[in-house]
Amino acid sequence: MSTKDYLEKDYYKTLGVPKTAKPAEIKKAYRDLARKYHPDANKGNADAEERFKEITEAYNVLSNEKQRKEYDEARSMFGSGFRVPTGTRGGAGGGFGGNFDLGDLFGGDGLGDVLGGIFRGRGTAQNRARRGADVETESTLSFGDSIDGATVSLRLTGEGPCPVCHGTGAKAGTVPRVCPDCQGTGQQSRNLGGFGLTEPCKTCRGRGLVVDDPCESCNGSGRAMSSRTIQARIPAGVADGQRIRIPGKGAPGEHGGKAGDLYVRVHVRPHPVFGRSGDNLTVTVPVTISELALGAEIKVPTHRGAAVTVRIPPGTPNGRVFRVPGRGVRRKDGNLGALLATVEVTVPHDLNTKARSALEDLRIATAGADPREELLRRARQD
Ligand SMILES: [Zn+2]
Ligand SMILES: [Zn+2]
Repeated sequence: MSTKDYLEKDYYKTLGVPKTAKPAEIKKAYRDLARKYHPDANKGNADAEERFKEITEAYNVLSNEKQRKEYDEARSMFGSGFRVPTGTRGGAGGGFGGNFDLGDLFGGDGLGDVLGGIFRGRGTAQNRARRGADVETESTLSFGDSIDGATVSLRLTGEGPCPVCHGTGAKAGTVPRVCPDCQGTGQQSRNLGGFGLTEPCKTCRGRGLVVDDPCESCNGSGRAMSSRTIQARIPAGVADGQRIRIPGKGAPGEHGGKAGDLYVRVHVRPHPVFGRSGDNLTVTVPVTISELALGAEIKVPTHRGAAVTVRIPPGTPNGRVFRVPGRGVRRKDGNLGALLATVEVTVPHDLNTKARSALEDLRIATAGADPREELLRRARQD
């Protein structure tokens, strides 16, 4: 079944069930219709045969959790009224092309047995609901996006149903048939020294179906590597190296199982000015010796905001940290951390005459106070 088939055909309408129909409802609808239109009961009736093919095709897709999901997604994406220009119908992607042989699928002892086999095949150990695998991926964010949160596109590669055969493993135009050795149960019983042992059927490897003419794209496995792109919301305040869990965005589940989770390892590109310390942002602000000694009001940049004025009191030591509240990282409780601004003295290396003479005056004026006196005294202690 091709995507074009998916868009053109309303499988729900074919089976006469609502889009929300439960698997049991779909199974019952198919059973009833299959009985009514089965070729054995309508010998020589081409219309009935056509109808039988349609309902079987619809059932094949809707009874398979994965294919049904794909089908629903394809149709919701393009709208259910979408029409594709005809002319290539029944091409390589057609589910029931010229090679379709009813005798192949329904050879054997008649409808009841064969359908029974198909239905027994579902819900066996092999087909039990299985949660999809967790998937891990990586994403690199700018510093700003890590602080404010961002929606990122993630390209995920994983194994999914083969797009050519839609997971059946059968060549286009053919369908798998019920395994003759296990009648579709996928299991065989073996007598082992008086003990009955149930093991996966060797003929079909537990699948319950055998493929005579394998799909050339996937060599009959029904599986293929595919990639998809999803949009994921990275919350505000993520740190470099953090792992974000996005529930339900991992590999799809099988046979009605839940999807796995997606884990995104976040890398944050460094910012040329701002750093991060927990919920606080950090910045180093150059100041002059006179600004620290005499006091000053200085402009301090904030991240993605206007600069703020910070008052430096007279006699501030070099390296003191000033705290600007509300300009940091958003916490889980919604409050914001602070911006921690560290003042750092810059020493001018090109002094004009006036500055040089002022500094020499300063040296003379402070000659009595040796800043290393305390250091030298304490260095003599044991
Ligand atoms: Zn295939
Ligand atoms: Zn088998």
